[in-house]
Amino acid sequence: MKIHEYQGKEILRKFGVTTPRGIPCVTVDEAVKAAATLGEQGVKVWVVKAQIHAGGRGKGGGVKVAKTLEQVREYANQILGMQLVTHQTGPEGQKVRRLLIEEGADINQELYISLVTDRVTQHVALIASSEGGMDIEEVAHSHPEKIHTYDIDPTAGLTDAQADDASRKIGVPEGSIADARKQLQGLYAAYMATDASLAEINPLNVTKAGQVIALDAKFNFDPNALFRQPEIVAYRDLDEEDPAEIEASKFDLAYISLDGNIGCLVNGAGLAMATMDTIKLFGGEPANFLDVGGGATTEKVTEAFKIMLKNPNLKAILVNIFGGIMRCDVIAEGVIAASKAVSLKVPLVVRMKGTNEEIGKKLLAESGLPIISAESMEDAAKAVVAAAK
Ligand code: ADP
Ligand code: MG
Repeated sequence: MKIHEYQGKEILRKFGVTTPRGIPCVTVDEAVKAAATLGEQGVKVWVVKAQIHAGGRGKGGGVKVAKTLEQVREYANQILGMQLVTHQTGPEGQKVRRLLIEEGADINQELYISLVTDRVTQHVALIASSEGGMDIEEVAHSHPEKIHTYDIDPTAGLTDAQADDASRKIGVPEGSIADARKQLQGLYAAYMATDASLAEINPLNVTKAGQVIALDAKFNFDPNALFRQPEIVAYRDLDEEDPAEIEASKFDLAYISLDGNIGCLVNGAGLAMATMDTIKLFGGEPANFLDVGGGATTEKVTEAFKIMLKNPNLKAILVNIFGGIMRCDVIAEGVIAASKAVSLKVPLVVRMKGTNEEIGKKLLAESGLPIISAESMEDAAKAVVAAAK
């Protein structure tokens, strides 16, 4: 799960990380009022920042420095409602519905720090670089020597020695090392307490006066931990999420929209991945990832069909089921009921194997629906790719 920058900064402040003062808002008038309020606190330069669940906003025109309240109004007007395109949004961009009006910091050094869960070591890793403010993937690619990684022992946490070593390697001046340590350890504490899977400050700024301050904040949270993170769940912004994925989550379906035209309905994440690979191997493009899980009911399968069919690009559907706990006859009933309920217009290929396979196939054959039955993964993929053309 993702959140906005202003929410990330709220979390960071709770854990002692320094951030600029800022106020989130949703209208131009609110933005000007927020700037005036900050002005009363001594702020003379404001930054108007688009709040969307994607990075690269600066380059896309979603972050603007204003020197007067008139400029705040002008930029708020420009940015609010714009379709902000960044390298993370895709070409269609993301509509800006929220702004953060923030105190402008005097930037001397832009550094990069993040924490991620490293699946290989099963530890949290600290990643630090002197090359903040820009695309870190690009730095990792062209200057891998400028990326420093630290493995964090979960019993010790991020130690002083690690924090200080990282700070020195990325060029934090000696007089600011203690301040940087507080920021790094604050970030680590926030990460652990919120069950984050990514926490990134890019840039971490060292001001001319030597203060270390987080100018950006990005968090991802482990969805499996949300049941014990009500405060994080409250940060969810459905406007930023894919409507199909929201709908799917209501029915406990693991669904991810993709940009191809072949819908996939599969049980088990591994089989779903393999199915998408097989479709691609035979020249097709999946429209979605969908794992209906082990205990799918007719209702769940019907909902899954409805969600796939809302996609205007959809040209064909492949159902690939392994009947283990899930029985093939139940899936067949679900597929038949769903096809009828949604009056299915696109070709449907079904491959099922396992428990009650024969009963399932018989039900499909007797349903009178134009279902294309397939035996192997290869047959199924070839049939659905041909049907989508
Ligand atoms: P994104 O990563 O989405 O582009 P950032 O929050 O990192 O958005 O902002 C982009 C750039 O704008 C930063 O690298 C920094 O140079 C500048 N910036 C952001 N916030 C401030 C601020 N409060 N004061 C001064 N400059 C800022
Ligand atoms: Mg940034």
